[in-house]
Parts: sequence; structure tokens; C-alpha cells
Amino acid sequence: MSAQIPAANPHVAAMSPYVPGEQPQGGGWVKLNTNENPYPPSLRSLEAIRAALVNDGAALRLYPSPDSAPLREAVARFHGFDATRVVAGNGSDDILNLIIRAYAGPGRPIGMLNPSYSLYPVLAAAQAADVVKVEITASLGVDIDAIAKCGAAVFFLTNPNAPLGVAFTPDLVRAVAQAFPGLLVVDEAYAAFADADCVALARELPNVIVTRTMSKAHALAGLRVGYALCPVGVAEILHRVRDSYNVDRLAQIAAAAALDDREWLDVTVAQICATRERLVTALRKLGWQVNPAAGNFVLAAPVSSKRAASVETSAHCFEFLRSRKILVRRFPNHRLTEKSLRISVGTEQETDAFLQAVAAWMEG
Ligand code: PMP
Repeated sequence: MSAQIPAANPHVAAMSPYVPGEQPQGGGWVKLNTNENPYPPSLRSLEAIRAALVNDGAALRLYPSPDSAPLREAVARFHGFDATRVVAGNGSDDILNLIIRAYAGPGRPIGMLNPSYSLYPVLAAAQAADVVKVEITASLGVDIDAIAKCGAAVFFLTNPNAPLGVAFTPDLVRAVAQAFPGLLVVDEAYAAFADADCVALARELPNVIVTRTMSKAHALAGLRVGYALCPVGVAEILHRVRDSYNVDRLAQIAAAAALDDREWLDVTVAQICATRERLVTALRKLGWQVNPAAGNFVLAAPVSSKRAASVETSAHCFEFLRSRKILVRRFPNHRLTEKSLRISVGTEQETDAFLQAVAAWMEG
């Protein structure tokens, strides 16, 4: 008898995978679709990797620190946080997965703002956990009462919100944490580009985890490093469910070096924020409906003299830009995003190329 492949677990058989943004093949693209950093990472990261490769890469024979101890120390220095309450991961996606593995499951749903990051439901589905979505209000606000009563064991509050771009104040997040009787995960993937963050809440409150990524502000998306700043008692739980060596040796040292180079971070983040403001101003001048933008991207609904803001207009503009090898992203599945494009903030030159193509689209 030939071997039979067993059926997948029923909840796995029923789930769909995450759909990442397009990574185009070949050169010549202006890539403004996945919120990557247009500037290089810290030179210190590159030097650290080079230094680790001496002696014919002898260090690569050895496993890395299992719990990323030196990297966690660098995170602790960076944020003024207790290193024993830091957990490092293979991207913040890994951290989000650990949180769901540890705290959600059958009968223990996750909650999330809608719209927000579409990975959370995928990670929940993999653990057979239900998802409760709390709608962001038409004025881009948060319904604290709805979160408090949503019944989730863990709630993901993406701040600044992606893909909307809007940021919620630490005072509002504090009020959510105090009203919600579960674990509140503040996903701060884009917080380095915002005016404020919620690290102090993770330090003080018993139920707030802040998650961070090195992919955006630190320009290290290709290395895959993220981390959690945990309330007392939570790091120990997350360590139980992570892979034994979940951050590789080169990623650990390069990320630690980047965290210690605050100057490069400040210079590049300031440049990205300045370009973002120029982009917002230019699009508003053209009559586009532009959301408040606190991350390294702008959500804006295209309009022209011939086309009002609509799903079709957004699709038309997207295709026009794509035909000029300018890649942005659409989110057609929610009423707050369906008429818009999400444009990552690129270099000044990339932003000029985008604005020139927009001008051509508006004339066409
Ligand atoms: N959270 C949000 C809100 C994001 O947009 C992203 C990036 N797509 C992540 C987390 C994951 O980042 P990382 O590259 O660290 O896995």
C-alpha cells in the first residue's frame, strides 16, 4: 500500500496564509509598498557582521546565545528597560506569534482593531483561536468600551495604526489597558516615526506588552529582528514557547550594534519624517484625502478633476503607477482604506518620482 499523507489539523486545513506585499523581481522599481526603510542600516551593523565573519567564519559553527542575551542588553540600554523583561524574536512577527501561542487558543480569542495588521488573524487561526475585531471609528478613533467588553484574552492595538497611519496617544492607550481585562499588546512597529510611544506603559502596567521591530526605523527588515518589552512575569512565559535559538548569530550582533548607534537612527528617522510631511502637504494640495500620518507611510485617497475618491479610482491610480514601475499598496477590504493607496515614504528622489507620476495620472 502506498503511503498516505495525513490530513492537516482541521483548523490548519481551514485557514489561509498571510499575503505579504509584492517583492518585485528585476530592477528599476520605485518600491513604496512594504514600508521598508529607503536608507541603509547603521554602518556599525555592517562592521559587526564583518567582524563576526573573520577566521573563515569560525563563529558560524557555534550556536548563538539561545535567549539573545547581548541583544536584550542592547534593547534594555536603548529603552531604559529591565533586560530580564525583554524577549527577542525573528522579526516582531515571531514575537506576535509567541504571544498568541502562549495566551490564545480554543476558547481564548484574540482581539484586534479593524483595520490593522492582517497577520494577527493568521497567527490566531494557526492556534485555533477566534478573532474579535473592534472597528476603528469613522473619525479614526478607538472605542475603549468595545475593547473592554470584547471578550478577548489578548488584544492587539497597532500604534501608530497600520495601514491607517493615525497614532493614538499614550493616555488613550493607558485608558484602554485599564479598562481591558486581558493582555494588551501595543504593536509599535512604526512608533519611532511618531511623536510618542507607550514604553512607559509596559514598564508600569501589569497587562501591557510593547512590541517593536528592527525592520522599519533601523532599516534591517532583511535580518528579521523584533522584540517585546514585557510586564513582570510575561517574558518567562514567552521564553517557554519560542524556538530554542530563535534569533541567529549575525542578526543578534547586527541588531545590537544598530541599537547602540542612536545618532544614525535619529538622522534617518528625521529625514523620513521630513519627507513624509512634504508628501502629505503635496498630496493635500492636489486635493487627495490624506490621513494623519505618524508612521513611515501615508494613506491617501486619490482624486482628480475627472475622478472622485472611490474603489475604482484607487485601483486605476494604482495600475497607472504600477505601469510606471512605481509600487504602492491597496487595502480594498475595509471601508476606511478601500478608496486609498498606502505609500511608503522613500528617499527624496523616490518621492519626487512618485509625485511626478501622480501629476501625470491627474492630467490623464
Ligand atoms: N507589526 C506591524 C503593524 C507591521 O506592519 C509589521 C510589518 N509588516 C510587523 C509588525 C512585522 O514586522 P517584522 O518585520 O519585525 O516582522
